[in-house]
Parts: sequence; C-alpha cells; structure tokens
Amino acid sequence: MTTYSGRHAAFLEEIGVGPLWVRRTAAASMGQADEVAAVAAVVAEEQRVAAPAERAPSAWTDASPASCAPAVAEMDWMQLQAAVAACTKCRLCEQRTHTVFGVGDQKAKWLFIGEGPGRSEDAKGEPFVGPAGKLLDNMLLAIGVKRGVNAYIANIVKCRPTDAMGKDRPPTAAETDACMPYLNRQIALIQPTVIVALGKTAALSLLKRDPDTSVATLRGSVHRYAGLPLIVTYHPAYLLRTPADKRKTWADLCLAMQTYAHAGG
Ligand code: SF4
Repeated sequence: MTTYSGRHAAFLEEIGVGPLWVRRTAAASMGQADEVAAVAAVVAEEQRVAAPAERAPSAWTDASPASCAPAVAEMDWMQLQAAVAACTKCRLCEQRTHTVFGVGDQKAKWLFIGEGPGRSEDAKGEPFVGPAGKLLDNMLLAIGVKRGVNAYIANIVKCRPTDAMGKDRPPTAAETDACMPYLNRQIALIQPTVIVALGKTAALSLLKRDPDTSVATLRGSVHRYAGLPLIVTYHPAYLLRTPADKRKTWADLCLAMQTYAHAGG
C-alpha cells in the first residue's frame, strides 16, 4: 500500500480529509482521471462496508423543475437580477437586507446550489460567505475549479429566512415554490454540465422528495434535474459541525467529477 499522491492529496487536506490509501500496483500507472476513479472507488467501498444503508436504492432518478412564470422564463441575466432585487413574491422580502442572487461564471460547467442566505450572506448580498463559504471554496479547489471561474453558486431562495427569534431557518415549501422560477431561469441560462445540491433543502427542493428524506439516502446516485445530472452532498455548514462526514463529501465530489467527465465536461 502507498499514500495517495498528486494534487488531490493537497486538496483533501484543504477540505479536512486525511490521506487516502490505494494499492501500490494501481498507483504506479495512474493518470489524473484514473486517480479520481480510484479514489472514488476506494471511498465508495469504505462507505459500502461502513454504512450500506446510506446508499440510494436506484442509480438514476429524475425530477422535473417547478413551472416558471412565463416572464421569468424569458428573462436575460440583467432582467432576472433586477426582478429578484425587486421581488416581493413571498414574505421573506420583509426582513431582507439584500437579495442574494448568486455569483460566478454565467457559462459555468459546475453549478452549486445551497439552501438560502444566512445572516452574513444577507448582509453582503453574496452566497456562501464566512466559514461555510471558505469550506465550499476549498471543496471547489478539490475538484479543480474556483469561485467565479467555471463555477456558479446559487441558492434555492434569494432572501434570508428567519424564525421569530431572528435566527436562520430553512425556507418553507411556499417560499421555495415562490422563488424556484428564478433558480430555474438561472439553470436554463447557465446550462451547466453538472449540478451539485448542497444539503437537504437544496436536494429535496430540486428532487421533489418527501421532507423526511435524508441527504444520506440521496447520496451516491446520479439524479437528474431539468435534464442535467445532479449530485447530492452535504451542506458546508453541516460539515463544519460534523467534520467526520467530510470524507463522504469527498466521495460525492469524486462522483461529480466522474459524472462531469462522462458528460464530456
Ligand atoms: S425569497 Fe425569492 S420569491 Fe421570496 S421575496 Fe425573495 S426573491 Fe422573491
């Protein structure tokens, strides 16, 4: 056995995943694509042995996007951004400081979708800032992309959901339904090669799953949304609270990279 080498080893350290081990005979003749496939296989095998119940029952599932309001479905980027900035379609507009439209390359091959803005994002008007944003940036580096370069980051809702105490909370189904046409238009304009859903709210909203569905049951499979491959993984904020699951997230990113390569990305 030998340590896994190459640029991915450094990135694994960045996202807090320790060294992985692969067989010496396999490592000797590896190219980059082989390395990704090998690590994915190693991690998948570890998961199969350690937690077989977490694997999804089917390899491919599909979900259709919520219907877009016709006007939104026809908008260009500037029109869409202006519409979101002025939106009052749900009550989340009442407490927001800024709408959080999304950030990144408008022709990105990679689209990452989170839940909604938190306090820091609401204050800055940008998704995934603060410690969770830093971890997401490291996750992007791990697959060879940077925020703003070949990656776009968006949320299910564009305004910060808060509870009666002013704390962050997940958006309700009504809030999600009200805001989804904007995200659907962003997806249609970007036409990414791969979508990565970050966390339960993003995954369940996109895949139209029951609220009791866990992220664990959706991981490990290639789903589809609007005809595009979709991979489910944990939200960076969750990973900060549960660092032991960073290894699972690396497996998800490996699956995403394999899917990207398979799609010709
Ligand atoms: S969350 Fe979405 S639908 Fe609700 S007010 Fe903000 S932009 Fe409009």
